[in-house]
Amino acid sequence: MHVVQSLDDVDLRYPIAFVPTMGALHAGHAELIKQARTYSESVIVSVFVNPRQFEDPEDFAKYPRSFESDFVIASDAGASIMWMPSEEMVYPPGFAIIPSPLQGEVFEGVNRKGHFGGALTAINALFSAVKPRWAVFGEKDFQQLFLVRQMVVERKMNVEIIAAPTVRDPDGLALSSRNLLLSESDREVALAISKALYKAIEKSSISEARLSLVETLSGERGFLLDYAAIIDEETFEMAIERTPHKRALVAGWVNGVRLIDNMAMTSVEQ
Ligand code: AMP
Repeated sequence: MHVVQSLDDVDLRYPIAFVPTMGALHAGHAELIKQARTYSESVIVSVFVNPRQFEDPEDFAKYPRSFESDFVIASDAGASIMWMPSEEMVYPPGFAIIPSPLQGEVFEGVNRKGHFGGALTAINALFSAVKPRWAVFGEKDFQQLFLVRQMVVERKMNVEIIAAPTVRDPDGLALSSRNLLLSESDREVALAISKALYKAIEKSSISEARLSLVETLSGERGFLLDYAAIIDEETFEMAIERTPHKRALVAGWVNGVRLIDNMAMTSVEQ
């Protein structure tokens, strides 16, 4: 695997399968890379902690960075190139700003103004440099996945977006780079999120599912609930009972660390 700052330093082999990340790679990222490998032998993983998608400079500063283990994980998972672009490279003078659509102003977009505009702007810039045929994104960031898909359709980009399921620790906690910031006891609290989701997705109505999430999570000591909602996967609006594909979303803080998770509803009657 080559590690480069500039893609000019390597011979790019097309068609490329692309996995954009912010580093601090874990088994969830490794799955994305392995999935990318099923599409192409030419897999580029970008590691770019995007300042434009952090509201709070402190959150940006404390975001975990771990070059050595990123190298091992990306290379073991089958990446051909690990690309670590500089901020100047992603945002050259006159770069295109992608504004956040309305669906990026709800849920994650409420507490993190500018988050999705920043994320889409960087993803668009990375896509322009890599020109991938496929790009793999995790369902873990379901709103981001939705917005990237929407951007690709609206801007008629020639890239297929592949969704990869969320990888979890055996006890259910969704893997996240931010888990590195949790103490052992914080991690115990964080486990409540996936436990609440597993319980809620089996409820037979949206109102029961939502109530179950809110009751379980607002009673959890040490967990500060931001939102719990059941959305329509197709529109990102609130689901109604007849919605065919519904998903439960949760976000909150454990000891100042923001965590998100989601699961598809299983047994809500259609
Ligand atoms: P990040 O480095 O957190 O920006 O994430 C880079 C990509 O990895 C995004 O598409 C995420 O959705 C995906 N990802 C993060 N955590 C997981 C996970 N636990 N399982 C699957 N994909 C994930």
